[in-house]
Amino acid sequence: MLTPYKHEPFTDFSIESNRKRLESELEKIERKLGGTYDLLIDGEKVLTEEKITSINPGKKEEIIGYVAKANQEHAEKAVQAANQAFQTWRYTNAIDRANILIRTAAIIRRRKSEFTALLIKEAGKPWNEADADIAEGIDFMEYYARQMIELDKGKEINSRPGEYNRYLYTPSGVAVTIPPWNFAFAIMVGTTVAPLVTGNTVILKPASATPVIAAEFVDVLLEAGIPDGVINFLPGSGSEVGDYLVDHPKTALITFTGSREVGTRLYERAAAVNENQFHLKRTIVEMGGKDTVVVDNEADIDIAVDAIVTSAFGFSGQKCSAGSRAVVHEDVYDEVLERVVKRTKELTVGETTTPDVNMGPVIDQAAFNKIMNYIEIGKAEGKLMTGGEGDDSKGYFIQPTIFANLDVEARIMQEEIFGPVVAFAKAKDFDHALEIANNSEYGLTGAVITNNREKINKASREFHVGNLYFNRNCTGAIVGYHPFGGFKMSGTDSKAGGPDYLALHMLAKTISESY
Ligand code: GLU
Repeated sequence: MLTPYKHEPFTDFSIESNRKRLESELEKIERKLGGTYDLLIDGEKVLTEEKITSINPGKKEEIIGYVAKANQEHAEKAVQAANQAFQTWRYTNAIDRANILIRTAAIIRRRKSEFTALLIKEAGKPWNEADADIAEGIDFMEYYARQMIELDKGKEINSRPGEYNRYLYTPSGVAVTIPPWNFAFAIMVGTTVAPLVTGNTVILKPASATPVIAAEFVDVLLEAGIPDGVINFLPGSGSEVGDYLVDHPKTALITFTGSREVGTRLYERAAAVNENQFHLKRTIVEMGGKDTVVVDNEADIDIAVDAIVTSAFGFSGQKCSAGSRAVVHEDVYDEVLERVVKRTKELTVGETTTPDVNMGPVIDQAAFNKIMNYIEIGKAEGKLMTGGEGDDSKGYFIQPTIFANLDVEARIMQEEIFGPVVAFAKAKDFDHALEIANNSEYGLTGAVITNNREKINKASREFHVGNLYFNRNCTGAIVGYHPFGGFKMSGTDSKAGGPDYLALHMLAKTISESY
């Protein structure tokens, strides 16, 4: 019997031994940077001529590694291998599959500071964010392993006299996993191990900005005993390899996290039935957010300030859960805004070499340009209170930026920026605040800061988001505690880290025997 699931604790870097351990891992990693990583197809490492170069976004000249880049021929081989391996993997015992996840989690836990250091380097994450990202990856494995063991028993249904009915879950087939770079470990792990533990075989196409940590993870899966062909590692371009995999008649499940633009495109492509395809594909698509922190006049202002700053600027706002809008009751608007600006001015921005750097870089040049462009739009639409500047000479750094007095329909109130920019809008009363909060094509997360029970009840009913938080920030969902996924154009609301997630990877089968 496994111990009950509990989430992985976060590391306290104010404790010297913890700080020292990570410092020494960072030094070690620096010595081995620049290695080469292969594709993995059917248990075979495959080197390619063309490579993806992964860099440290906080120090552009630092190369993290060179990763093999697949073409369509590799993609075809990977699908064939995954399909072949599925024929045996699908009938393996759920406990054996779950055990691979538990073993993988144990290995990662032992090498936690090493993985944290790699993530700091490859994604530019601040220490606490990188630590939380690794912890979340471990959580996904521990949580899904336990859930699979339960699900394998099937669900209760009725039988009549002379009849024995069962309701069991069976795997879908070949899964294509396309994770994002922003939770380069956690979401990559979660969206890889969920299809694996449910008996599907996987082709993992990692994010091109963070392929090295994914390659390292795949090696750990191999060490934990995953059979050949069950996991295939296929870095490559979306338009060449991604589309090919999504369109392939043999792929059965597409699990994607990323932008709305790519997500909706994959969703459409996966809906098409191609030649020699004998099933409809399932899709799990998690996309963007334009998430709001609502502050009521009956609120604890300290909590409100903290919630806005944490939600807006954690990992430089590069989370689909980021609180990029603050909608504040007019009675407390000036006070909240002033205090948030003051706190924001204290945030430090730079390469995340020590635990006290609050904000690292944004991921790449394209992100830098896009965010700086939104900052220009913001200057025309609202009042710049602080920030507004960027420097991409050494890494892609952007100051935490606050705009005030926005019109509800302003572009920076409506469009996902995915950077350290928050827009303030004033609400006449609580109802008006909720109306503004719901005025978005997205519906991922939201936070409401209020001490009024009636208002908590009202927002619980009417604030239309997948993850709603009261009196705290709207980021940082924990596996098994805050199942994560959004409404509207935020995605298929698949609720990663929740009780219904694994079932989405399987087909439910009713078996009725008469005697
Ligand atoms: N699960 C993360 C959170 O709650 C966000 C995931 C994402 O940005 O893709 O903050």
